[in-house]
Amino acid sequence: MDFEITEKMQAIRGMIREFVDRELIPLEPEFTTKEFREMLPVLEEKKRMVKKMELWAPNHPTEFGGMGLDLMEHALVSEELGRSPLGHFVFGCQAPDAGNIEILHKYGTGEQKKKYLRPLVEGKIRSCFSMTEVEMPGSNPVMMDTTAVKDGGDYVINGQKWYSSSADGAEFAIVMAVTNPEAAPYMRASMIIVPCDTPGFNLVRNIPVMGHSGSDYFSHGEILYQNCRVPQENLLGPEGHGFVIAQERLGPGRIHHCMRWIGICNRSFDLMCSRAAKRVISPDGKTLASRQIIQQWVAESAAEIQAARLMTLHAAWKIERFGAKEARDDIGLIKFVVANTMQRVIDRALQVHGGLGMTDDTILAFFFRHERAARIYDGADEVHKSSFAGRLLRTYEKRTVR
Ligand SMILES: Cc1cc2nc3c(=O)[nH]c(=O)nc-3n(C[C@H](O)[C@H](O)[C@H](O)COP(=O)(O)OP(=O)(O)OC[C@H]3O[C@@H](n4cnc5c(N)ncnc54)[C@H](O)[C@@H]3O)c2cc1C
Repeated sequence: MDFEITEKMQAIRGMIREFVDRELIPLEPEFTTKEFREMLPVLEEKKRMVKKMELWAPNHPTEFGGMGLDLMEHALVSEELGRSPLGHFVFGCQAPDAGNIEILHKYGTGEQKKKYLRPLVEGKIRSCFSMTEVEMPGSNPVMMDTTAVKDGGDYVINGQKWYSSSADGAEFAIVMAVTNPEAAPYMRASMIIVPCDTPGFNLVRNIPVMGHSGSDYFSHGEILYQNCRVPQENLLGPEGHGFVIAQERLGPGRIHHCMRWIGICNRSFDLMCSRAAKRVISPDGKTLASRQIIQQWVAESAAEIQAARLMTLHAAWKIERFGAKEARDDIGLIKFVVANTMQRVIDRALQVHGGLGMTDDTILAFFFRHERAARIYDGADEVHKSSFAGRLLRTYEKRTVR
């Protein structure tokens, strides 16, 4: 087993870390207190710098202007970028665009690639992914109310979606809608590309999440599709294959998310240790670092981060080696292990900062608010645990264990 990071990746990670420290972390006080939209001009400038350094779109195909890193390589990049909430956005590999790029690359027609994929990889436009519905359980998405009915050469879409992240300012949405109501449950829905200026595409609001509605890329849209008509050429992949494609979108995307979360853990851990080592808490000059409970949090956090990181890298290796289907269990396990590790580490770091932790003077309060969602999106913890345990326990039905 080889844990060595190649020279190429060491160099790339070093450049990224330096850029994040020098160019992005200083922007965070503005980021946590201003509307995201107001940050766009300065972020565009940073994007130009990243492109000049030839570090743009690390995980996207070279023929469309990305760096073409493989999953393991991008996992290491994602860890570095995750240290700042601005990292992935400024380097052109942010969700949900990253997932949409993957499926457009795999399933898009020549025309769709020209119109949507190229400008998306180039960072000229943004997109959103519109699957979850207000009235239906996202945890069991085969229960879907949104329909796309054929009419002449078009699909006519009707339904109410929410949590379409980054819909505000997006050029197009990839919408999941029922096209084949009579088919088997997992073959009923399709993915359809809907330009956001199509009549009947109504962004009702940016949903207030943890006290903040956000704007532009940092927002979650509620969308009402009312007789929203798009040509049938906008179908992405085969009709009825929406869930099959969504499943594919999740595997590598999970690695990106989990390594981004590890980056958040690393940053929170550094902040925690630095504060503990410097904060004097008694007249004899003793710091928080002298207290056993703080030492325990530090040791537990270090061990938990290391374990979560190795699990994620192993899952990435397995996806590359054997495919997402074979790595299904690993992909499910890392989802809840890393999300919960991150939550514990952020919480401890915030606690060590006391009142300061609750302010926006450090990034911890943002992480605490924003990253709570990690245990819900991409499948809630409980769903991953149940489906993993169900699969595993079934294998024991016929096994003799002594
Ligand atoms: C910040 C954020 C961003 C998101 N971005 C997007 C996006 O870009 N596009 C998109 O389409 N969706 C997005 N979502 C939606 C997300 O995918 C759903 O919220 C998620 O799938 C859960 O669905 P739900 O909210 O309908 O919860 P429900 O399905 O109603 O479940 C509620 C809770 O019930 C429990 N539960 C559910 N099923 C089971 C079970 N089988 N066993 C035990 N307990 C269970 C879980 O604790 C779960 O949290 C986002 C959500 C958040 C919070």
